[in-house]
Amino acid sequence: MLLAGDIGGTKTLLGLFDAEPVRPRPIVVRSFSTLDYQDLPSMIAAFLQDDEAPRGTVERASFGVAGPVLGDSATLTNVPWRVEARAVAAAFGITRVHLLNDLEAMAWSIPVLKEAEVQVLQEGVAVRGGNIALIAAGTGMGQALLHWVENRFVPSASEAGHADFAARTEREITLVRSLTAWYGRADVEHVVSGRGFLNLHRVAHREPCRAGIDLDAPDAPALISAAALERRCPGCVETLDMFVDAYGAEAGNLALRAVSTGGLFVGGGIAPKILPAMTNGTFMRAFLAKPPLEPMVAKMPVKIILNAHAGLLGAAVFAAGQR
Ligand SMILES: [Zn+2]
Repeated sequence: MLLAGDIGGTKTLLGLFDAEPVRPRPIVVRSFSTLDYQDLPSMIAAFLQDDEAPRGTVERASFGVAGPVLGDSATLTNVPWRVEARAVAAAFGITRVHLLNDLEAMAWSIPVLKEAEVQVLQEGVAVRGGNIALIAAGTGMGQALLHWVENRFVPSASEAGHADFAARTEREITLVRSLTAWYGRADVEHVVSGRGFLNLHRVAHREPCRAGIDLDAPDAPALISAAALERRCPGCVETLDMFVDAYGAEAGNLALRAVSTGGLFVGGGIAPKILPAMTNGTFMRAFLAKPPLEPMVAKMPVKIILNAHAGLLGAAVFAAGQR
């Protein structure tokens, strides 16, 4: 059996999987509030004691962590939680325990995703063995690349969410001025993420928000996108439009940097929640506006990952490959 985890600042998914070839099969999956537990071993102990959890030996374990991974330990961004591979191995007698960056873990799922688990934005033609790129906006924003190495795709992590935000329009230049005043610099995650929604909301409202959104509410990004999709406030409509436009442009930047002729995948929690806005043409227009290389990006498959457990599945795929 395999134990896999997708450890986030708010929510953590744990799952037990059968180590089947190519795509491990989930046996039982549970969601936890990360901060309800002192550390990962106590959360795993609660999970394994669950009545639904099968009894048996866990041979290998892998965890995707929303934060930088250094060797066999990782610290979550924004949450005082440390993850130690050795502590998990010792507590449960698991011989191989690996920690991955959360985007790297999600990237491992891409080669095994089924057609029904993606929404196609551009059919394109995948070049066999061509690089694949992943961009994912959720609470934060991350990117990963997959390279074809010895007959399989191998992901590499990045901290691309903290690269500089590139403004293309007058309204984005105004946005960069505000972000620089607030944060000292404008990085991509300040725009293309759940937190980015809040920044865009401040810039896009020249009049008070007609949807009356409280930016301190924990679900403010979801409230803004709902108000925009229901067209209840012009400022919120503008916020969502700026978000999707910037998301498409940054996905295009990633496609250029990665030469992702194997495909560009959009992961993370936000895209599936705003599908009507992701599919109205704004995202793809911004993605494609890369002359003189428009012919290259126009051939790349572009897909949204709909499987909300892609990060967990990817961690299981990685664990299955560790023999
Ligand atoms: Zn509004």
